[in-house]
Amino acid sequence: MKLPYAEPYKIKVVEPLYRSTQTEREQWIKEAHYNLFNLKSSQVFIDCLTDSGTGAMSDRQWAEMMVGDESYAGSRSFDKLKETVRRITGYEYFLPTHQGRAAENVLFSVLVKEGDIVPGNSHFDTTKGHIEFRKASAVDCTIDEAFDTAVYHPFKGNVDLEKLEKVFKKYPKEKIPFIVVTVTCNTAGGQPVSMENIKATSALCKQYGIPLYFDAARFAENAYFIKKREEAYADKTIKEIALEMFSYGDGMTMSAKKDGLVNMGGFIALNSHDIFKKASVFNIMFEGFITYGGMNGRDMGALAVGLDEATEFDYLESRVEQVAYLGQRLEYFKVPVQHPYGGHAIFIDANKFVPTIPKEEFRAWSLAMELYITSGIRGVEIGTILADRDPITRKNRFPELELVRLAIPRRTYTNHHMDYIAVALKNIFDTRTEAKHGYRIIEEAPIMRHFTVKMEKI
Ligand SMILES: *Cc1c(COP(=O)(O)O)cnc(C)c1O
Repeated sequence: MKLPYAEPYKIKVVEPLYRSTQTEREQWIKEAHYNLFNLKSSQVFIDCLTDSGTGAMSDRQWAEMMVGDESYAGSRSFDKLKETVRRITGYEYFLPTHQGRAAENVLFSVLVKEGDIVPGNSHFDTTKGHIEFRKASAVDCTIDEAFDTAVYHPFKGNVDLEKLEKVFKKYPKEKIPFIVVTVTCNTAGGQPVSMENIKATSALCKQYGIPLYFDAARFAENAYFIKKREEAYADKTIKEIALEMFSYGDGMTMSAKKDGLVNMGGFIALNSHDIFKKASVFNIMFEGFITYGGMNGRDMGALAVGLDEATEFDYLESRVEQVAYLGQRLEYFKVPVQHPYGGHAIFIDANKFVPTIPKEEFRAWSLAMELYITSGIRGVEIGTILADRDPITRKNRFPELELVRLAIPRRTYTNHHMDYIAVALKNIFDTRTEAKHGYRIIEEAPIMRHFTVKMEKI
């Protein structure tokens, strides 16, 4: 008999979870005005709100916390991290920042000016925010398949080269400071970008003289998908794949809260000495001196180890296949999920799940509520509440997709937790025709309303 899969780690430290009752949760969520962001973490049993900064560190990373060098300038921990970043990315220059959006803020302060165009594959919201804040525009050049949940494509995060070339032809070179390739593409559901596509995108950029930067938050998960789905890379190591991937770009911004396997941190890595020097000035202004940039010495040490661990095949296999395991369990129960599964999350299709709830009553939000109340699981709505109102008409924008995202923290939950999530959703799915009532808004902020919106049951 073939031996079944088992995680390549054992657990040394545990954090107890409180198993609340449905009566308790009904009271808590009412007090939280039916907004999952308002819950205390102690009121949540399995937390799938985000995979950002919520993972578990290894014993080696914790050991680094003890030997961290907290010197203001020239910290040993900085040298360790710098050496690791150079070895894994191949980029010569490096600046630490306190998280991913801070790296964007520093780099874009150098590169982006009013009226610029920054093409990319479905920019992450903070990336887009930092572009638009500078009165520039982000142009989405993702392939069309990314927006069709039913169609299978192994690399739904790919850049559409025709769309990209159109942008290059339409605007003068001076207006396009760079393009951003996000690996994996978070906005498209954690979907990977192929090496072939990265290579071709890079060639097109070179032809037009436009630099290419990676938004590399999940670069290791992307490398894993390349190894599994692109034949030429089946025998390469994750580190070899990552290094080749980065060789097609000019630099990167990183949220270390994802594939850095730490709870807080970020950085910029790049090849240009000139841009590094300019970015250093902004780093000192916004983040801190260039040898710590908003991070503790001990945190830089833990990140150095985290980057090494995140680029090992065994870790990535346990990570990405755990997400897929949840997807497979849900499909076994006929629960409608998005295809193919992303690297860090499973998306439940609420339009197919609860079509009986009118879209005006926030389908995906309602489903996320039901999931919490019945089982203590916290997901997040990616639907009408998140899509916000039209800034001109102030009417609700109804996106094509109403999703509940279940993001899986790294090395944190076991497959028993995945089984629990799958059965909780199956139970709701089996009684879905009874769910006819949604929610209405009683109070909301003028922008980014999902974090603070107050709702009531209809
Ligand atoms: C999380 C994330 C960011 C922003 O990083 P923070 O560390 O949250 O500031 C940028 N891009 C992508 C793709 C991300 O997932």
